[in-house]
Amino acid sequence: MAFGSSSLIWFRKGLRIHDNPALDYASKGTAALYPVFIIDPHYMKPDYNAFSPGSSRAGLNRIRFLLESLVDLDSNLKKLGSRLLVLKGEPGEVLFRCLKQWDVKKLCFEYDTEPYYQALDVRVKNGGKPPLTYQSFLKLAGEPSWASSPLMTSRSSLPLVGDHGDCEIFEVPTLKELGYEDTEQEDYLTPFRGGESEALKRLRDSLSDKVGYGFLEFMDRCVFELTCNFANSISLEVNLRTRVKDVNFARLSKREADVVSEWVAKFEKPKGDPSAFLKPATTVLSPYLKFGCLSSRYFYQCLKDVQKIVKKHTSPPVSLVGQLLWRDFFYTVAFGTPNFDQMKNSTICKQIPWNDNDELFAAWREGRTGYPWIDAIMVQLHKWGWMHHLARHCVACFLTRGDLFVHWEKGRDVFERLLIDSDWAINNGNWLWLSCSSFFYQYNRIYSPISFGKKYDPNGNYIRYFLPILKDMPREYIYEPWTAPLSIQTKAKCIIGKDYPKPVVLHDSASKECKRRMGEAYALNKKFNGLVSEEELSSLR
Ligand code: FAD
Repeated sequence: MAFGSSSLIWFRKGLRIHDNPALDYASKGTAALYPVFIIDPHYMKPDYNAFSPGSSRAGLNRIRFLLESLVDLDSNLKKLGSRLLVLKGEPGEVLFRCLKQWDVKKLCFEYDTEPYYQALDVRVKNGGKPPLTYQSFLKLAGEPSWASSPLMTSRSSLPLVGDHGDCEIFEVPTLKELGYEDTEQEDYLTPFRGGESEALKRLRDSLSDKVGYGFLEFMDRCVFELTCNFANSISLEVNLRTRVKDVNFARLSKREADVVSEWVAKFEKPKGDPSAFLKPATTVLSPYLKFGCLSSRYFYQCLKDVQKIVKKHTSPPVSLVGQLLWRDFFYTVAFGTPNFDQMKNSTICKQIPWNDNDELFAAWREGRTGYPWIDAIMVQLHKWGWMHHLARHCVACFLTRGDLFVHWEKGRDVFERLLIDSDWAINNGNWLWLSCSSFFYQYNRIYSPISFGKKYDPNGNYIRYFLPILKDMPREYIYEPWTAPLSIQTKAKCIIGKDYPKPVVLHDSASKECKRRMGEAYALNKKFNGLVSEEELSSLR
């Protein structure tokens, strides 16, 4: 292969073939294309001191999801006559060496707004000021131009891979090869498989409201008995490799079109059930968007197509389109706000004198607060790396302004490591929101760790699944097991204080104290117009 007219596509997050502008540009007018992913050993190295399996940066589930996505990308590239070249080392160094050795003339990669990749672009920053409310964001964004622009064309082949000389090329490593042991243990086995193929399947299933996305496969793996009603499921032959506008909904019968659209059209975020785990109430497309296995533009245009069929549908902020716009909202604010990910030196974050209580924090992190609803959600985070949005609300509120008064940055770090959809802008934005540090200020509205979950799941099935120690606790005590008489605890084989912890705080008094302290902090922020000094803040501790 002749050197000199080659290009290199550096895959970082956009781990897909469909609607991939960087790949499209890289493969145009080139004799050879090097599709590269660089494994940074620091990111992947097992950290056996961490509180749960994984590296210091990412939980095992997210590392597994990434490797699965790479295997799928490699397989999809091979179908187009190419392959993924996996390299190892410090990314900057490795890339520089390859560019030189392979005489690459064109380097392409997906632009990323995270600080790590950021090069400031003033145009998207509203004259230097990002919009700080969802409504002002919508006004500014209108119909986002990226969202309505045509998708990249589908392709049947890619330029051949160039000669890689003496550069050492690897296959996508397995977890074992990365140094992880016992990786198939059920305890840390997310049901969500990585990769573009799975992303497109999940998108199709979501659009057709198929029951139990991907769960049959997972249940096979976990030998868990599943009884589900499949009566409403409908399988549609929509070729997702074609451009969205070519998907011919008109060819479907009216009944099918109704089913396709109904779930999407009726989607209303606050109404979803956070305790639904066999069939989550939302799409679970977030990990695929995070790694770029799914194009957000493609997703958006699919939703718009559905809206063309069903005129009566929900709208932003609660609709599914609205959810994607939340994602863009947080990206926009995060991109244009210095120190977005911290309280100190932030112009948008309220200064609050959070407690430094490592014991309470560890109890929350490890799912042993004594509140089964909170602990079950944290166990789902550890085991699956994904929870419903409202479940995230509950645990974030509990840790911060609801009960424990611990700094949101500590909770953010735990989510950042363990979520498979962990996303810098969205995660920080939502922690700012939930802790009433920015965007949302009604600190008197607190999620009850007892009654909120009960509303959706009175029998506590979610708790019983994620906290099997409580599986025999009678329904009337499942949310407050410490109130069960000892005889009942004995019968349920779960003695509170021995087999399962007592509550670390009493919600009623703890939440009252939190509100009082938030009130004081807000008053101080008002007095000093947000510029509260360390000294003034300490006076509230
Ligand atoms: P759906 O409801 O099906 O929504 C579709 C897509 O819209 C999502 O995949 C996501 O990309 C986007 N979206 C939905 N809700 C939000 C939101 N509130 N803000 C921004 N985008 C949204 N989401 C992440 O992707 N990564 C994170 O690290 C993350 N951290 C969070 C931390 C906290 C404390 C909270 C309260 C929420 C966080 N979220 C995060 C937002 C939200 O909970 C998830 O995006 C959502 O639950 C993912 O599930 P889904 O794909 O089924 O969502």
